[in-house]
Amino acid sequence: MSLLNCNRCGKLIIQKKQPYCDSCLRYYDHSYRQIRDCLHTRPHLTAYDVHRETGVPLSVVLELIRSS
Ligand SMILES: [Zn+2]
Repeated sequence: MSLLNCNRCGKLIIQKKQPYCDSCLRYYDHSYRQIRDCLHTRPHLTAYDVHRETGVPLSVVLELIRSS
């Protein structure tokens, strides 16, 4: 078992699949759903448009698009 800091908030967590704590995982999950729903209705939006539509920070939008 190894410990690491959450990639988003820095909280100390036990290492698991993703490098995030539970509350950040919930945040990413929620943001991911918002982005997915937004792109579902308007698939031609850019990352910046999605950020403006959903209010999800641009860095999070880009990170989620990269990792999906
Ligand atoms: Zn966290």
